[in-house]
Amino acid sequence: MRHILVCILISLLLMSCDNNPQIDEVSEYTKKANQDVSLQFDEIDKNEASRGLIAEAKNLIIKDNEGNVVWNMAAYSFLKNNTSRTAHPLLWQMAQLNAHAGMYEVTKGIYQLRNFDIANMTIIEGKTGWIVVDTLTTKETARAAFNFFKTHIHKKKPITAIIFTHSHIDHFGGVLGIVSESQIKNKNIKVVAPKGFMEEAFSENILLANAMARRAEYQFGQDVPVAPNGHIDTGIGKTVAQGSYSIVEPTVTVNQTPTRMIIDGVEFIFQYTPETEAPAEMTFYLPLYKAFCPAEIASRTMHNLYTLRGTKVRDAYKWSTYINEAVKLFPDMDVCFFTHNWPMYGNTRIKEFLIKQADMYKFIHDQTIRLANKGFTPEEIAHAITLPQSLSLFMPNRQFYGVLQQNVKAVYQMYLGWYNGNPAYLNQLPDVERAKRYVEYMGGVRAILAKAHTSYNKGEYQWVAEVLNHVVMAEPANKDARTLLAQAYTQLAYQAESGVWRNVYIKAAQELTSGMQKKKSVMYKGYDMLKHLPPEKLFDSMAVNVNPEKAVNNIAIAIHFGDRNASYLLYIRNSVLYYTKDVTGRHQASLHIPYTTFIKLITGAIDKTTILFDKDVQWSGSKIALFQFFSMFDAPQRFAIVTPK
Ligand SMILES: [Zn+2]
Repeated sequence: MRHILVCILISLLLMSCDNNPQIDEVSEYTKKANQDVSLQFDEIDKNEASRGLIAEAKNLIIKDNEGNVVWNMAAYSFLKNNTSRTAHPLLWQMAQLNAHAGMYEVTKGIYQLRNFDIANMTIIEGKTGWIVVDTLTTKETARAAFNFFKTHIHKKKPITAIIFTHSHIDHFGGVLGIVSESQIKNKNIKVVAPKGFMEEAFSENILLANAMARRAEYQFGQDVPVAPNGHIDTGIGKTVAQGSYSIVEPTVTVNQTPTRMIIDGVEFIFQYTPETEAPAEMTFYLPLYKAFCPAEIASRTMHNLYTLRGTKVRDAYKWSTYINEAVKLFPDMDVCFFTHNWPMYGNTRIKEFLIKQADMYKFIHDQTIRLANKGFTPEEIAHAITLPQSLSLFMPNRQFYGVLQQNVKAVYQMYLGWYNGNPAYLNQLPDVERAKRYVEYMGGVRAILAKAHTSYNKGEYQWVAEVLNHVVMAEPANKDARTLLAQAYTQLAYQAESGVWRNVYIKAAQELTSGMQKKKSVMYKGYDMLKHLPPEKLFDSMAVNVNPEKAVNNIAIAIHFGDRNASYLLYIRNSVLYYTKDVTGRHQASLHIPYTTFIKLITGAIDKTTILFDKDVQWSGSKIALFQFFSMFDAPQRFAIVTPK
């Protein structure tokens, strides 16, 4: 079971350019649709994006120790052009505003490093040192950002505290790039995070590592060329850096509102906001600066109640409630600095913004349920709901990242689940089988292609995609079908306001025309993070990789982790893996192994044959049972999405 955990850690990778052909025709319909977009970012937005610039990081390229590019802002220099025929005008403008890497003074005493990664690093001046809020995705990008800060701040001070606003990797993964674990311990560096941070940092996607990693390639447009007709933005920033990840345990957790704390002489008031954008999340207010950091519960875009890489759905009701609570808790706020994009200024402006975001999420919640109660299916609700103009025309509510149609379905799913109530959808045939029958019933591939061309020429791209998806699933070798389907996806991409939707459409077009990229096996980059993974979570992730055809014998193995002073009995019963701390039960073999080595074994960093020769590893009992045990787990594999599995 190689790399099952590493997959989550590399699930958010920087795209690398290649020269796959793009189907970059811009149809008349796409041209017209984009010409009809009259909304624009105003001067206030643009000024806020550049306000407080201390130093621009020109042509920023960040590399790892081996010289691999981890982050490349230089690739986006084409965004200097004011318009593009191959992008939704608003997304293009957002991409431009997200293209400036550099160091900014948010307000006196608060700085941000932007576009060194998809998220921002915020640095607050404490009495004796720097308080760092969120540490980006990778050690490489965090180190580059912090070094840039040190070069331009002209004050020599140590890091005195780290704050993680929430449990998503783009907000903590780089921590060991700017501070070491021994420094945290020896210099008493405070690490503040919301309750449940450690658990959620791992649990949100540990079991589904492989599926999410593959789907994330679509969400973030990985390996799609960075170009006017390719990748331009993801709405909350460019994409996620490829590099090495880390995590450290919080020393202080926040579990109630308000929580007042003095950190290095600076007063913080925390608001605990769990089960919102992340399962563990908190905002905070700095009374001295009248500055509010909403983490990611408020953003310069509609956010995701459901993300396309695949996560549990998020609670729109709670989300809205906490934003309203923040308005009441911090009525004097004058600056609002985000963990993505750029800050907002002025009490009236910020309050209007927060209220409109809260209302947007509650509107989506309430109206989805209203229509569900009328018997509408998710698809019908998604097409029936429109936001009132007072919300939809408000720029920070635009759909640069999350999309109304997908968020509506998230609310439906949260309350009513996947079944829409119509028995025709209760037990559908599998995709390929269904596709073959549709194609036959519709008169065969040639007839469908002729009609699909007509629909394409009328600009009916979604319909073309639906019909030709059947053809490609039924006849994956049909080049005409693949090409026309890719063209339809490309037009949908060019019209998409959401960076994520654009990414998934372009990625689909790329795989239809060039095939799924063969990727080199994944580098083992996540060890600094994985070593904090509790053994129980590791066992759970092993259990979901048990191949029942190989796990026919009921094997039990006792495992002793000397470096953890912990022992477990892992056993297979009816092709199901369990674990218990009681090792007195019958078992065929025992393994004494450092937990750190065991992680490497399970994640494929080392091979199972090598552990027999490792001086820190001892085993006893049946060697055959040991080998059988470690051979019954599936290795993760990349899978097809727009063609049959
Ligand atoms: Zn984020």
